[in-house]
Amino acid sequence: MQNIKLDTSVQYIKGVGPKMFELLNKLGIYTVKDLLEYYPRTYEDRTKVTSISDFQKDSNVLFFGRLVKPVSVVYARGKKIISTVVTDESGSLAFLTWFNQIYIKDRLKEGMTYLFYGKVSSVSPTRATLESCSIYDVEQLDKIQGLYPIYSLTAGITQNYLFKIINEIMDQELLLNEIFNDEFRKKYYLPEINYAVRNVHFPKSYEMVNMARKRIIFEELFLFQLALMNMKDNNLVSTKTNVYNDLDCSEFLKIIPFELTNAQKKVVEQIKGDLKSNIVMNRLVQGDVGSGKTMVAAIAMYLAVKNGYQASLMAPTTILANQHYLELSNYFGKLGINVDIITSSTTKKQKEKIIERLKNNEIDILIGTHSIIEDNIEFNNLGLVVTDEQHRFGVKQRMKLSAKGNVVDTLVMTATPIPRSLAIILYGDLDLSVIDELPPGRKTVETYVVNDSYNQRVYNFLKKHIDEGRQVYVVCPLVEENEDLDLNSVEKLYEEYKKEFAGYNVEILHGKMKNKEKDEIMKRFKENKTNILISTTVIEVGISVPNATVMVIENADRFGLAALHQLRGRVGRGSAASYCILKSNNKSAIARERLDIMRKSNDGFLIAKKDLELRGPGDFFGIRQSGMPEFKLANLLTDTKVLEQTQQAVKEIVTKDKHLELEENRSIKEALFLKYGEQLRNIVG
Ligand code: ADP
Ligand code: MG
Repeated sequence: MQNIKLDTSVQYIKGVGPKMFELLNKLGIYTVKDLLEYYPRTYEDRTKVTSISDFQKDSNVLFFGRLVKPVSVVYARGKKIISTVVTDESGSLAFLTWFNQIYIKDRLKEGMTYLFYGKVSSVSPTRATLESCSIYDVEQLDKIQGLYPIYSLTAGITQNYLFKIINEIMDQELLLNEIFNDEFRKKYYLPEINYAVRNVHFPKSYEMVNMARKRIIFEELFLFQLALMNMKDNNLVSTKTNVYNDLDCSEFLKIIPFELTNAQKKVVEQIKGDLKSNIVMNRLVQGDVGSGKTMVAAIAMYLAVKNGYQASLMAPTTILANQHYLELSNYFGKLGINVDIITSSTTKKQKEKIIERLKNNEIDILIGTHSIIEDNIEFNNLGLVVTDEQHRFGVKQRMKLSAKGNVVDTLVMTATPIPRSLAIILYGDLDLSVIDELPPGRKTVETYVVNDSYNQRVYNFLKKHIDEGRQVYVVCPLVEENEDLDLNSVEKLYEEYKKEFAGYNVEILHGKMKNKEKDEIMKRFKENKTNILISTTVIEVGISVPNATVMVIENADRFGLAALHQLRGRVGRGSAASYCILKSNNKSAIARERLDIMRKSNDGFLIAKKDLELRGPGDFFGIRQSGMPEFKLANLLTDTKVLEQTQQAVKEIVTKDKHLELEENRSIKEALFLKYGEQLRNIVG
């Protein structure tokens, strides 16, 4: 095997035929680089040779054994049982068995010593027993001893096979390009990259694994943060000319039907601080479902208008945009502030009118979906933009909205609770406000986990609540990526409920409906003309109907916990006791554990944290939507130490060489574009 390169297909590696190639593809391994980066899931400790006299039940042991009798084969219950007895210097005996591996009869000779690795299944005063040990020649000790990598597999591929083919490419030298210079590596205690990769696969000790893993994690996080920094750089405006002379919002506070919570007041103060400073506001407001983020946004918009600017609020769905419009135009109308709405259901004619009025400054606040960021929507004097449920939008969309004004203050609202340290990294330039208190009188939503055998009881429960005047949501998950199939499953559910709830008003709502139709359905639900609303996750974000107190979630195990929490937040919005019934027939331990977290906790922060632990970061932060990749080794939640270091390192490099033009940073720049080039172009434009 000559001249192997990173992009060489693994087909050309010794031991990879067409069939294995296909299996490797299943693991996402196509090229040599993929294989190198197919890091072990964990390791088996084979660092010590254990003497047979020291064997403990259930421990894994590497040991020498001399056969004291020939290998015997017996047939029992349709199996071939191969066995022998070995001893070592301690004089103790070990009884070894294998099943159906008939070749072992020729592999092992009486009187010879071999190296074995396996799990001790029992220990008695006379002998230890081990099943299905791996067998090596004594001379192989050097290669075997250490930590043995355990990879995630697929049927047809064994640990040994991966071990062998990765070994095969490891014998090649300097495959990977080292992007950090010596000085840099010394500073952050980073080993050379090829050395690190070798030691992640075949380490001799845990110390070495840790050092090697850190090296790879460091590079992943470093490039990630550098990419983020680059994207944001585009948006960085440090000083502004917007002047806020009047920060008195008492007139507005008189109109709303409740008193702000202390947490809301605190965040409003923070926003005022931003508005009167000469630095552009870039603030992330994080608050659990129902904490009252809309009101905080409304106050900020009120202040913008009061100081002569237009404001805009962008929401991820038409339903939510409509809801905001209804609530806010009610308040603002009383103060003579003009609010309008634009969504995909706005007609061409209405749109033209909105465009005209926006330019003439006849609209003070424009609410809408991403229709707002269409090119032909121009403001007269946009001063503040608010993005609601920001995890639904990408960085690019957020920036596009800001670009509609000269120098625009930005407020983004999210219910996705992420640790502060992470928020700063992901959103970097954003300041963070937390609404860590719910309005008074909220009851926690009582949550149950049930399977289909409870159907009748669930129906009775719903009837009881409807008969008391309450309303019910039934939510159906996305079953497939295929919208038609999803539609199918809500419709099926709808039929079932209609049958069971004859005499009640049952309605269906899903993403494929026309906006107008959706609006009408939501309107009827709000007016309590509908008893049960069967829906897909279109109601997930933001919807608020206080009289709806029961939610049933079908196939709850298919949702992420953060999504379940969002959904559940649709009930418990009034002062009445509220219930969430999570239905699932999934018996797996992990599914049960996840649903149990929901049952026990109403705390979005805790739920998010647990979810992250169980699932890994993935699309949790909506990172995927904004074009962020997953990491091979790094974990944003647990690798906080390395994150701090890389943040520091990125800052240092960027301060010295903002556009990575120095020769010493060339490799870094290349690696950055290799990995993030597409996203960078995408976002930077
Ligand atoms: P979220 O933070 O999930 O977006 P909302 O802004 O939709 O929450 O607020 C949830 C509900 O609580 C709304 O009906 C809103 O009118 C109400 N609300 C907001 N602030 C308060 C408050 N201080 N006291 C009582 N109710 C409030
Ligand atoms: Mg909201």
